[in-house]
Order: sequence, then structure tokens, then C-alpha cells
Amino acid sequence: MKIDSTPPAASPLLPNLRLANLSSNREQTYYILVVLLSVIAWVVLAFTIIGAAYALLAGFFLWLGHGLLAAHLRAEAVHVNERQMPELHATFLAVCQQLEITDPPRLCVLQSGGVLNAFAMRHAGRDFVVVYSEFLEAFGPDSPEIRFILGHELGHLKSRHVLKQILLAPGLIFPLIGPAYRRAWETSCDRHGAFVAGDMNGALRAMLTLSGGKSPGRALNAEAFASQYEEERGFFVSLHELTSSYPTLSRRVRDLRALQDGTEASRAPRHPLAYFAALFVPGGNVGGGGASSALVMVVVIGLLAAMAIPAFQKVRQASEAKACYNSRLMLSTALEQYTVEHGQSPRSFADIVGPGKILPTMPVCPTHGTYSARHTGTGFEVSCSNHGQGAPQIGK
Ligand SMILES: [Zn+2]
Ligand SMILES: [Zn+2]
Repeated sequence: MKIDSTPPAASPLLPNLRLANLSSNREQTYYILVVLLSVIAWVVLAFTIIGAAYALLAGFFLWLGHGLLAAHLRAEAVHVNERQMPELHATFLAVCQQLEITDPPRLCVLQSGGVLNAFAMRHAGRDFVVVYSEFLEAFGPDSPEIRFILGHELGHLKSRHVLKQILLAPGLIFPLIGPAYRRAWETSCDRHGAFVAGDMNGALRAMLTLSGGKSPGRALNAEAFASQYEEERGFFVSLHELTSSYPTLSRRVRDLRALQDGTEASRAPRHPLAYFAALFVPGGNVGGGGASSALVMVVVIGLLAAMAIPAFQKVRQASEAKACYNSRLMLSTALEQYTVEHGQSPRSFADIVGPGKILPTMPVCPTHGTYSARHTGTGFEVSCSNHGQGAPQIGK
């Protein structure tokens, strides 16, 4: 294990990959679009009470979910350092150095029951990179495969994707554009991974393992797998691509092979109808890092709760209007009764409300509206400063 004191500015095996061009051009393009959409959405949200309540509540649940996930990592995961998994620690520091990350995040290893995954997250100002133990078992602590995976996740942190996931959440939910932007993230991060892997075949093996599993993955034919991307271009594959926040594995393998050859990976055409269908599938998966279904669940519950708020408000408003109407009905009846009994109209509510009078106490509006009475010729009509006059309208 050696750590170079001066990181190479360019990857020796991939001369057209430099630290400065690791983020894909597509990411920049979509970034502008998503920022625009998000700004519009935030402004709209800020100016509508319900919208602000949605955003606050969703934000709260997102924060809660992240806090719990971070707590899980702090308490349950293995923290990699000089004393714990020193080989992996050294690899991690070397990869950080290559990417010119001066303040390395905390690296955690988590047992995953056979799942192959890794993710990056941030909570309370602290960055985490998490690698599932299955990857370590498959590749060892100082392999090009592991370097690729670490580089990919560090790419997410270096590009501030974790922060953007929150700030740009409204834009990321947007159909077509949101998922496309997130796919561009993954492409950029694959380039980060390839940059640090040092061995392109290792990077490809890591990717093939994600599709084919631990032991078959190493023996898979990358070229054959990459060709699946061109061969499978039907409607449903296109729809799957357009709605997914990850590029398909066959496309990622093909992109990596293009990097290896120094060529530009071209995009295979998609079924045109799939674009139309994808318009109805929102981006979703906000704040997950692709990792924790638990977090997604928390967000879903939060959104459901947020949706319940307006429904609850409607019910409350309807019952308030009904109560107000009853109060006004009592008042107008009392006003008429006074007129019949005294042969003249009451001068004010004081004539009918009070101890020993028709109404012992003043009927009130639950929203503290003030009442005024008007003689209509046939009787009295009492109106409320909040609810107006007459019976409450149904559905209001
Ligand atoms: Zn990723
Ligand atoms: Zn009222």
C-alpha cells in the first residue's frame, strides 16, 4: 500500500479524463434546467400556505430520516480508520487524494445480507461514504473495483449531489428532466470512479458484478453486456430508462468501455412514445441516495401526512361555517321573537342577549367573526364578518 505524494493530474490509462472534466456535460445542462424549475417551485411554495406547509413537513421528515440513517451509521456500521480495516483506509485516503478531497469524509462498512451497494450521504455537516461489506468480500480492500466504487461515491460528495438533492428537490421530482439530471449524476460519478480505479477492467468488473452477482460478475463479457444497450430499445425499456434515476447497467458498462477506447459514447434512440408516457411518472426518490428504502418510506409517510393537512383543514372549515350558521340562525330567530313580543324591532343585540332576555349569552362565531343584523322586510338576516350571510355552501 503506497500513497503517492503527488496525485497524477490525469489518469494514466484514460488520457482524456482529467480532474476538471469528470462531471459530464449533460450534468451541467440539466443542472441549469433543474435549478430553474426548482426556483420557480420554491417561489410558488413560499407564497402558498399549503405549499409552505408541504415543504416544511417534507423537509422535516427528510431531516428525520437522514438523522436516523446517520445514527445507524454512527452506532452500527464499522468506521474505517487506521486501526480498523487499515488497508481499506489507505485505499480510501489515496482515492480522496487523487480527487483532491482535502477533508476525507467518514468511511463506513455495513453488512448488507448479500446486497451489493454503496452510497454517500450527509447529515449535520458530516459526509459519509458507505460501502456494503459484500463489495469488500468480492474485491478486497485494495482493488481497482473498490477504488472505482469509492471514487464514484466520493464523486457524489465532491459534486455536492447530496446537498442538491435537497435544494433542487422540486426540480428533481419533475418528470423526464429530474430523472435525466440524476442519470447524469451517475454518469459523472462513474467517470470519477474510472479516474481513480487505475484499471479500467476493474471498473468494468465492478459494474458487471452489480448486474451479474459476485462470482459470475468477474467472468462476464463486458462487450456482450454493453451490446444489450443497443439491442434493447423497445417501448418499455425506453420508459424504464426515462423514469429511472440510474442509467441502465448496460449503458454504464458501454460508457465505461467508450472511456477506455477514448471515444464518445453515442446515445441510442428511444421509443418516442416512451417520452410521452414518462411525462406522467414523477422523478421521485428524493433524498434516498438510492440506498435506504426506509428513508423513502419515511418521505412517503411525510407526504401522505402533508396531503392529509388540507383535507383536515377542509373538514374543520366546514364545521366552523356550520357552527357560525347555527349561531346566526339563533340570533335572527331571537330578533324576530323580540319584534313579535315588543311590537318593535330591537335596537341592538343588547336588547335580546343577556340575563333574563331571550338569549342568556351571545352566540359566537368559532373564527371570531363579528355579527351584524339587517332587517330584510320579511325578517332579520344576521351576517358574519368572516362567513357572510346565509347557509354555508356545500363543499366550501
Ligand atoms: Zn451513484
Ligand atoms: Zn362566522
